[in-house]
Formats: sequence, C-alpha cells, structure tokens
Amino acid sequence: MQFKKVIGQEKVKQQLAASVKQGRIPHAQMFFGPEGCGSLPLAVAYAQFISCTNPSEDDSCGTCASCHKYEKLAHPDLHFAFPVNTSKEVGKDPVSDDYISQWRGQLLANPYFRSNQWYNLIGIENKQGLISKNESELIIRKLSLKSFESDYKILILWLPENMNATSANMLLKLIEEPPEKTVFLLVSEDPNEVLLTISSRTQPVKLNQIDKPPMVKALTENYGQNTEQANHIARLANGNFISALELIEQSEENKFNFAKFTAIMRLCYQRNIPEINSWVEEMAGSGRENLKSFFVYSLRLIRENFIMNLKNNDLVYLSPAEEEFSKKFHPFINGRNIVSIYSEFNSASADIERNANAKIVLFDMALKIVKFIRG
Ligand SMILES: [Zn+2]
Repeated sequence: MQFKKVIGQEKVKQQLAASVKQGRIPHAQMFFGPEGCGSLPLAVAYAQFISCTNPSEDDSCGTCASCHKYEKLAHPDLHFAFPVNTSKEVGKDPVSDDYISQWRGQLLANPYFRSNQWYNLIGIENKQGLISKNESELIIRKLSLKSFESDYKILILWLPENMNATSANMLLKLIEEPPEKTVFLLVSEDPNEVLLTISSRTQPVKLNQIDKPPMVKALTENYGQNTEQANHIARLANGNFISALELIEQSEENKFNFAKFTAIMRLCYQRNIPEINSWVEEMAGSGRENLKSFFVYSLRLIRENFIMNLKNNDLVYLSPAEEEFSKKFHPFINGRNIVSIYSEFNSASADIERNANAKIVLFDMALKIVKFIRG
C-alpha cells in the first residue's frame, strides 16, 4: 500500500517520509488517533516506503520487487502480530500466523476497520482477542533471524493494548534494544490502555481525524458516490472513515428496501398477482439477512405513514423520496387497517426469523395486504 492510498494525513506522511530520507528511522513507534483515521494503513504504507528500493521524495514506487511483495502484504521481512483467539478452525494456542490469510484479505479489501469487525471475521465469537506469550515468543524468533531480502525487518503489531503483562514483558528488551535494522510499528486504538512499560519505549505518531476534502475525494473516486452524496457522508462521518463506509452501506440498503416496499404496496393495490409473484421470487432469493432488514425498514415506514395520517406531521421522520411516496400512500393506512397490516409484516418477519419458507411467507403476506388495502 502506497502513501497515496491512505486517505488524507498529508502532514504525518511528510514527516514519516522525511525521517526515512534523513536516515532517522526510530526503532519503535506507536501509531494512534481517533477512530477511523487510518493508523493501520498508514503504518503499512510507511513500512512499504522504508523497504522500497526506488522511492520518490514522498512515496514508495509501487513497482520495485519489494513494493510488489508489499502490495500483496507478502514480503518475507514484513511481519504482523494482532489479537486472536480460538475459533471453530483454530483450536489450542492460537497465534497470528493461524489467521494470516484472513488478515491479508481484510487489509487488502479494506484497511479501515474496528477490532470487533476483525473478531467477527475470524469467528472468535464473544472471546476477547489476545496477543499471547506464544505470539511474543514467535515475534522474538522471527526478528532474531537475518532479514531475507530487504535491509529492514519490520513488525507491525496491531493493538498492543491486547497484550497482557507476560507477553508484553517478553518483548520489552527487544523493543528497547532491537537487532540492527529492525523496526517496530505499534498501532493502537487506545494508547491509554497500552502498558506503560511498552508505550514509554515507543515514539508517538499521532494522527488526526481525516479532513473533509480527501474524504470526499476517496468516496467519489473509490466508492461510487456522487459529489453531493460524498459531501453529505463526509459531513456525517466527521473524519471517521469507518463511519463513512457504514453510512454508504446503510443508504444502499435503505434505497433497496424503499424500492421493494413501494413496489409491493403498489402491486397489492393493483391486485397484480403475476407481478406479486415475481416480487416474491426475487425477495425470497435475496437471503434471510436482507429480508430481516426489509422488515425492519417496512415496519418503520408503515408507522410513519400512520402518524402522517393522524396529521401529526411533527413526528414524521422521512427522507425526501419516502415523503413523496407517503403523500400518496398514507390515506391507505388508517385506523381500520393499520393494526392488521402492521401485525402482518410483524408475523412475516418472525416467520422468516424462524427459518420458515420465505416464498410461502411472503406470498401469504402479500395476499392479506391486498385484502386489507382494498378493504
Ligand atoms: Zn518500490
């Protein structure tokens, strides 16, 4: 990953690049900043810059043999350590190497993620992620070897706050007096939780929240948002790129659910059975998680329409598109049918939760709505 792939943080990038150019690479640094600021991708880009054989003033070249391996996170002198635990696949004494392919996959697909997203990915359920003493032993062994290809051996250790005293103590000497050309890059979500014996031996690299212009640029260039959407998301995300990604996901999901809800309501009103049938086919094929989200959304929209019907506009929370639809739709939701329609959606939702046949549940629901709407 080159510096230019890291969103914003220009000042810190310049400082890091300058320290390499001047041959003053501190042997242990700790990257940290507010959530979603990109400490982890920045540490990876910095490591690539250190190892690059043909860097420019401010970035790695992206094309030398070292960069090629770094772009796949598979350079033999780049080591990772991160919190893990046991899972269905990995039993006793888990270490980072047991999960290295998931780690590379996550980092290459999207290096902006929280620790709990990582734990979900590797399926350690409710257990805490740990950097164990076995991991520390492994780190010591790896870093005592001569470097394979690069001048530098680099260890990126994500979440040093998840080391207990035993595993931390094992690394103290190494962090304080590492072998020549060995660099420790610690990346923390919460530096106050890192044991003082560790943090006091590192130089801080503090990031700020991401500025709005680079965030808008990333959202338009890499995430398919138009300028207006990107500005809106960047404003809400407040410098946190993890939040920005979540907002995109939610808005895509809302758009889909809105389209599906309005479609089924129109078809029910028209008593268009063949089209209702194809709607059911498509929704049933969209999967249980999407159906659950559809029901949560639909129940909300029905409630809002009923409230609109009571002419109590203050309580209505709708997007412009939802409001437009609801203006025509809300007369059909009234005191006579609201309870029936609402409970029909509710019980369909519960049936889906219980793994009932989605096609039967949805078709049955649609037929009842036809009856309720047409009265
Ligand atoms: Zn290079």
